[in-house]
Amino acid sequence: MAKRVSMMDQHLGPRKATPARVRVAVRLRPCMDHEDDKTQKLCVRGLDSQTLEIVNWRNQLETMQYQFDSFYGDNASQREVYTGSVCPILPNLLIGQNASVFAYGPTGAGKTHTMLGNPNQPGVIPRAVRDLLQITRTAASAPENVNWSFTITMSYVEIYQEKVMDLLDPKNKDLPIREDKDHNILIPGVTQKTVNSFGDFDEHFIPASQNRTVASTKLNDRSSRSHAVLLIKVLKSQQISPFRQLTGKLYLIDLAGSEDNRRTGNQGIRLKESGAINSSLFTLSKVVDALNQGLPRIPYRDSKLTRLLQDSLGGSAHSVMITNIAPEHRYYFDTLTALNFAAKSKQIINKPFSQETTQSAAAHPAMKRPREEAEAAAAP
Ligand code: ADP
Ligand code: MG
Repeated sequence: MAKRVSMMDQHLGPRKATPARVRVAVRLRPCMDHEDDKTQKLCVRGLDSQTLEIVNWRNQLETMQYQFDSFYGDNASQREVYTGSVCPILPNLLIGQNASVFAYGPTGAGKTHTMLGNPNQPGVIPRAVRDLLQITRTAASAPENVNWSFTITMSYVEIYQEKVMDLLDPKNKDLPIREDKDHNILIPGVTQKTVNSFGDFDEHFIPASQNRTVASTKLNDRSSRSHAVLLIKVLKSQQISPFRQLTGKLYLIDLAGSEDNRRTGNQGIRLKESGAINSSLFTLSKVVDALNQGLPRIPYRDSKLTRLLQDSLGGSAHSVMITNIAPEHRYYFDTLTALNFAAKSKQIINKPFSQETTQSAAAHPAMKRPREEAEAAAAP
């Protein structure tokens, strides 16, 4: 019944799809340490829209240069980051392809500012949701889509100590991650809300973000030790036979801090937390390495984070990594680590393909239910 172009077919047959690389952007936040606010104390600076330089710790007179797809300096606006690195990938969602944007970097370097922002300076998440609503509305009224409808849904989870928590329903504390026969990664049982307007999104997203913040004050800045994963799905459904459906998934991910917690002297529960987080981020870097080298085995399954990112990084997806860095000296080694991770990711080649299934007429009414719920019910 399912008609699809799978990753497997693609590996076997000639590659028709245009390869899409992971785009790597680096964003430097403004200096925030007043006593450090002297140029000679800052250890990193931008050279042009793609290049930055950082002091060489072995020889303070030397600098090392790094080049990325985009470099955003400390005066870049939220709008620039969004229009330069995120907006261009959104149309792919309407043709059933996946995309992901993740913010990487040490705690305090600007990941949450980049992804979430604040009411005066909205970040990637509110901008992407607003634009997706607009793009689907425009597409729905186009003549070629007369028999198609578009639906946007959201799920929001946190990965904390290798457990997937549902931020839209905090009772769901340890959700499984599964792969269906079409190699789609899904979280059976996760809450999925329909988003018809930006108001709908806010209504679900704001309390969920507060769930995360409350936990964070109780547990010593948990937000810097967990990965926040917002999933926005765009479903394009044919209203007449053969009831085709295209699903495009967008992951917007605020990763845990990439700093080395062994050096920051964390103890007790925090050390345990750091251990779990380090293993997830460590696996992420192994996945990136394996993809770069074209190894046959990519260790996605070695952590929850990479398992969830499996169809968003190195497979079919259009991925953007925004590495956030800070200019102050005390961040120096964390900045170097983050830049080296980002430089590795730059080599990944992603191959886009479209996810398409054909629904039988009888099965069609089930599509009114959230898809993940339907899939979970169908699972053996
Ligand atoms: P992270 O999520 O990586 O730990 P945050 O996003 O919380 O870091 O940023 C740390 C602080 O720096 C916050 O007070 C944030 O508002 C501020 N900040 C980060 N990036 C910028 C920026 N580009 N412009 C202005 N302030 C920023
Ligand atoms: Mg943060």
